Amino acid sequence: MPEVNIAGSKAAVVRRGDYQAPSYQVSEVALDVRLDPDNTEVHTRLQLHRIAPEPVAELHLDGESLELLGLQRDGQALAESAYRLTEGGLLLLNPPEAFILESRVRIHPRANTALSGLYHAGGQFLTQCEAEGFRRITYYLDRPDCLARFTVTLHAPQDSCPVLLANGNCMATGVEEGGWHWARWEDPYPKPAYLFAMVAGDLAVVRDRYRTASGREVALEIYVAERDTGACAQAMDSLKHAMRWDEEVYGREYDLNRYMIVATDSFNMGAMENKGLNIFNAKYVLASPETATDSDYQGIESVIAHEYFHNWTGNRVTLRDWFQLSLKEGLTVFRDQEFSADQNSRGVQRIGDVRRLRAAQFPEDAGPLAHPVRPDAYSEINNFYTATVYEKGAELVRMIHTLLGKVSFRKGMDLYFERHDGHAVTIEDFIAAMEDASQRDLSGFRRWYGQAGTPVVQATGSYDPARHSYTLTLHQETPATPGQPVKEAVPIPVRMALLNTQGQRVPLEVVGGASETVLLLEQSEQSWNFANLPGPVIPSLLRGFSAPVRLQDSLDNDAHGFLARHDDDPFNRWESMQDLAVKALLAAVADSSVAPLPVTLRNAVAATLADRQVDPAFCAELLTLPGEDYIGEQMSVVAVEAIHRARDGMKRAIGRHFAKEWTGLYHDLAAAYQRDGLSIGRRRLRNLALAYLIAGEGSSREGAILHARQQYIQADNMTDRLVAFQLLAQHRHHDAEDVILDFYQRWHEYPLVIDNWFAIQAAAPYPKTLRQVEHLLVHPAFDWRVPNRVRAVLGAFAANPTVFHAADGSGYTFFAEQIRRLDDINPQTAARLATPLSRWQRYDAPRQQAMVAALKILAAKPGLSRDLAEVIQRSHPE
Ligand SMILES: [Zn+2]
Repeated sequence: MPEVNIAGSKAAVVRRGDYQAPSYQVSEVALDVRLDPDNTEVHTRLQLHRIAPEPVAELHLDGESLELLGLQRDGQALAESAYRLTEGGLLLLNPPEAFILESRVRIHPRANTALSGLYHAGGQFLTQCEAEGFRRITYYLDRPDCLARFTVTLHAPQDSCPVLLANGNCMATGVEEGGWHWARWEDPYPKPAYLFAMVAGDLAVVRDRYRTASGREVALEIYVAERDTGACAQAMDSLKHAMRWDEEVYGREYDLNRYMIVATDSFNMGAMENKGLNIFNAKYVLASPETATDSDYQGIESVIAHEYFHNWTGNRVTLRDWFQLSLKEGLTVFRDQEFSADQNSRGVQRIGDVRRLRAAQFPEDAGPLAHPVRPDAYSEINNFYTATVYEKGAELVRMIHTLLGKVSFRKGMDLYFERHDGHAVTIEDFIAAMEDASQRDLSGFRRWYGQAGTPVVQATGSYDPARHSYTLTLHQETPATPGQPVKEAVPIPVRMALLNTQGQRVPLEVVGGASETVLLLEQSEQSWNFANLPGPVIPSLLRGFSAPVRLQDSLDNDAHGFLARHDDDPFNRWESMQDLAVKALLAAVADSSVAPLPVTLRNAVAATLADRQVDPAFCAELLTLPGEDYIGEQMSVVAVEAIHRARDGMKRAIGRHFAKEWTGLYHDLAAAYQRDGLSIGRRRLRNLALAYLIAGEGSSREGAILHARQQYIQADNMTDRLVAFQLLAQHRHHDAEDVILDFYQRWHEYPLVIDNWFAIQAAAPYPKTLRQVEHLLVHPAFDWRVPNRVRAVLGAFAANPTVFHAADGSGYTFFAEQIRRLDDINPQTAARLATPLSRWQRYDAPRQQAMVAALKILAAKPGLSRDLAEVIQRSHPE
C-alpha cells in the first residue's frame, strides 16, 4: 500500500524498514502543568543532547493540536529563524550539540473527545499517551526508543481536584493562592513518553499493602469515585495475586514504592500500563455481586494482571518502534492467560482463549485487514492494536514455550531481562535471547512474525493391523493475504496422543514410551510412523490447541463422537463436540430438511449430560453451540439467514429432546450466591439449562419463561439476573417491555450495568431491532463521548448477524451513518468499530454492494480521520 489517499487527505505511510535511530536523546523532562478544563498550560523543560555522530540540520519534535505560547533555548527566547512549525510538530534548525529547550503551550482538555493526550471527562483530568498521545500534551521526541526521566508538577484548584497524581513518587506538595494547590511527582525510571500519565480529580482511594519476595513494602492504591470504594476488592485481590505470581513464575518483583490504579468511564481501551499509575476502563476495576457478572470478575482478574505484568514486559524492557508492538502485547497476553489458567481451570481458560482467537483473529487474518504479527507498514498505529498483534502474538510466544519447554523458556526470559532491562528492543532480540538460553535454532520460527494468514493443516492417518502401526501425515498450507501472495511453510508444533478403543492413551515407542508428544511440522508435508501399538488407535491431534492453525482432520463423526466422550485433553474433547455441531449445522444450512440434531451429536450431548465426573464449567463449554459467526467462517459465502435458522433449530431440538435433563439441572444447581470456581461453573451450567429450556417448545418452554421471570426478580447476583434479563428481552415474550423498563429503573445509576442493558437490546435477533437501536441512540443515557456506551450499542449491533447483515442493506447504511458521526468525536473508536464492514467479500452479491456502498459513504466524509481513512482504504482499495 503506497499511500492512503482519501477525500484529499494524505497520510504518510510509516515503514518498518525505514527505521532510523533518533539523532538526539532527551535525558530529563520537567513538566509544569496548570490544569484547566478549557485552557491548560503546559510548560516543558527538556535536556537534549545529540547522539548522532555528526551535526544535523534539523531536529523534529512531534506536536499535535498544540497552541505554542513561547519557546526558549538555554534561557533565551528562540529566534524565529531557529525553528519552524510544521503540520506534525516543530523543526529546530541547526540545533547545538546539547541544550535546554523550554516550551509553553496551551491545550484544551474538555474539547478533547478523542481521549488521546490530556482530556477532561466526568470531572477528571486523565491522560492516554500510547501510542502517540504525548505529542498532544507538549512538543517532544514522541517515540518509544526515546527514554527519559520525568518530573511533573501539577497545579489545580483544590476543591475540584483534591487528588493530583503522576508516575513514580510524590516528592512535594503545597498550596498556592486562589484556592489552588500543587504536587510534584518524579519517576526514577527512564521511560518512553507513551508510558507517561497524570490524573487530577475528586477521587476516593482504596489502600492496601504488598510485601515483595525480598521484603519491600509496596503501597497499593485504587482511585475511584467515592461511591465505588466498596467495589474494588476483586481488583485489589487480583493485583496481589498477579504480583505474587510474577515473583513465583518469572522471578520478577515490583520496583517502585507505590502502585496506583485509576478507574474511569471514559477510556478508549481496556486499560493502560503507565509506569506506576495504571489508568483503567472502570469495567476492569469495579465489581460487586449485585452489579457484576462472573465473567466481569474474570475480566478484572485478567486485565489487572495484564497491566501489572507490563511493568516488566513493556515498561522495564520496552519497544524500539511500534512495529514491535507484539513484543510487549503478545508476550503479556501469554503471561496473563497463563496466570488466569493457574488461578482457575486450565482447560476452560484455554477454550476461552481459542474462542476469542477464532472469533476475532481468524477472520482478520482471512480478510483485507490481514497483517503479520510484526507489521511492515502503517499509516495510523492506533489501527494496529489488533487481535493479530495481541492474540496471535500470544500464540506465537506459547509455541516458543511449547518448543523449548518450561525450564528453557524461563531461562530465555531471564536472559531477555538481563540483557535488555532499561532498553528499547525488538522482537528479534526476544527470539535471540530464547535461542541463546536454550541452544535451539528458531530461525524458521521467525517466519511466523512476518507472515500473515492462518495456516491450514491437513491430517491423514491410517492404522496397519498387520504391522500394528499407525502412520500420520500432516500437510500445511497458508492462504495468500493482501501483499503476500506466496507463503512459506512455518514450524508448527502439533501436540498429540493416540487413544485406544477404551479411550486411554497408548505408549509411543518413538518417544521412549511416553503417551503424549509434540511433532514439529516444518515442511509442507511430513509423515510419522508409530510402531508396536497394542491395537487400533484414534489420534488426538493439536492437543491444547498447540498452534494457531485450522486443523482439518480426516476423522468421521463416529471418531469425533468417541473423542467428545473420551479424550482426556479438555480442549480436544471440546473441539470434537464443536466439530460435530458445526458439521450438523452446515448440513442443515445446505438443506433445511435435514434433521437439526443428528444421532451422533445427540448421543454426545446425552453422554455429556450423564457424565457426573465433568466439572460444571467445562460441561457448560461442551454444551454451548458454536456462534453464528464461527459457522459462517466455515463457509465460502456466509448464508446469514440459513445459519441463524439452523442454529436456532438445533438449540430448539436440544432444548426439547433433553427437556427433562435441563429441568433437572436447573433445579439441582440452584444455590445461594458464592464466588468460588465451582459455584461459578454451576451457575453457568444452570443458566445454560434455562437458555435451552426457553429455546425449546411446548410446556417446558412456558415453564422456563416463568422461571426466567422469577430468576430476574429474585436473583441475588448480576450473573443470574442478567441472563434472565437477556433471555426475556431477546425472546419477544410479552413481558419484555416491562422487564426492559424495570432493569433500567433499577440500575440507571450504574453505567457498567446500563452498558449491558444497551448491548442486550442491540443484540436482539429481530428486524425491529434496527428501530430499537435508533431509539437507543437518542436515549438520555446514551453519550457519544463515552466509548463504553458507544461500543455497547454500535459494537453489539455490528455483531448482530441477522440485523446488521439484513438482506436489504438497511443495517449497513444505518451503521455507516453512525460511524460517520462518531469519527468527528472519537476517530480511534470509530475506526475500530468500522472493521466489520471490511468483511464484505464474505457475503452474497447484494450484501457486498451494500457494504461497499457503506464504505463509500464513509470515504466521502469531509474531514475523515486518518484512523478511519486507513481502515476504509485497506478494506476496499479502489
Ligand atoms: Zn497490553
